[in-house]
Amino acid sequence: PPTGDDEPESAAVVDLAAIRHNLRVLGTAAGRAQVMAVLKADAYGHGLLPVARAALAAGTTWFGVARASDALLLRTELRPADAHVLTWLHTPGAPFARLLAAEVDVSVGAPWALEEVAAAARDTGRVARVHLKVDTGMGRNGVGADQLASLARRAASLAAAGHVEVVGLWTHLACADTPGHPATHDQVARFEDATDVLRGVGIEVPLRHVAASAGTLTDPRLHYDLVRPGLAVYGLSPLPPSDPRASMLTPAMTLRSRLAAVRPVPAGTPVSYGSEHRTARRTSLGLVPLGYADGVPRHASTDGRGPARVHVNGRAARVVGRICMDQLVVDLGPGAGDAPGDVVTLFGPPGAGGVPTAAHWAASAGTIPYEVVSRVAAAVPRTYR
Ligand code: PLP
Repeated sequence: PPTGDDEPESAAVVDLAAIRHNLRVLGTAAGRAQVMAVLKADAYGHGLLPVARAALAAGTTWFGVARASDALLLRTELRPADAHVLTWLHTPGAPFARLLAAEVDVSVGAPWALEEVAAAARDTGRVARVHLKVDTGMGRNGVGADQLASLARRAASLAAAGHVEVVGLWTHLACADTPGHPATHDQVARFEDATDVLRGVGIEVPLRHVAASAGTLTDPRLHYDLVRPGLAVYGLSPLPPSDPRASMLTPAMTLRSRLAAVRPVPAGTPVSYGSEHRTARRTSLGLVPLGYADGVPRHASTDGRGPARVHVNGRAARVVGRICMDQLVVDLGPGAGDAPGDVVTLFGPPGAGGVPTAAHWAASAGTIPYEVVSRVAAAVPRTYR
């Protein structure tokens, strides 16, 4: 069918009912723990505000973002009166006063951050709600065991002065996507030690949180008071493909476009830059107006790893030749009746028709589904259903 003026030729279609469903699945998996929907990176490419609205409607009470700007946007646009917002990635000079005014919880993972947050609280006459972040083995963000005792003492004195309330203690797991990995056990042991350090200075933390999607889905011992799933909210699994514990999830994003051209070609026709691919037989080539500038992973075009496929008119078609900046070519097969304008689905929920998933594209490109969905370019319109 021809594209109407108001219908984009390419779109990332986001199924908000799938997001609500996934949050229900995660809520059940989390048992008594509360669920924080992680909405960083524009909700993993799905769109911060529409996803947040859907999550609010599904009863979500916590939102997590990496950046202060996202936390402020959530508070100003959405005003989720009954929900908490936590933001965790700061550099010196971060807008702590604005975050506190907007009633955003802030993560503190370094002594300088505690001082800046406390100063902002003092200056604005507010009490900062902080979550102390401990690095238990991820080697990324948070204080290590060597600095925790002094940070805890300082937090206790700032709490006594009425500037700070330590509402959370948290950490992030490095190997939870391999269930039963011994590193997870070690991280939990260090997290328990950190809890004792806080207790030692009189801080009894009401909220302890450790698990992201993988921990939420696989191990109740990681649930503590709050879980922080991201990827699973969007219906994708962080677990090995054979692990059935993510099978209840429904992928929310469908990346689709339309054929821009269909051309019969003889065997031996070179396709795209470098002429690396030559057609093995007489066939039809379809041109899809999406490329790596739109976030389609260019590495998915190398034939070695199992080339990426798209779905067109009820069947799979292989991506052939190198993926270009704004277009890619698919082999539609000989005698196919496809026509310019026909819908092409790059990935989406697998459904009955065998549509490739973001996980298939990730496997073809040698990356992870996180990267496939979060890198769909802002220039690709998001539509919601
Ligand atoms: N918590 C933190 C601190 C994160 O950085 C992330 C994302 O990487 C998450 C939770 C959510 O992780 P996942 O998408 O694996 O559920």
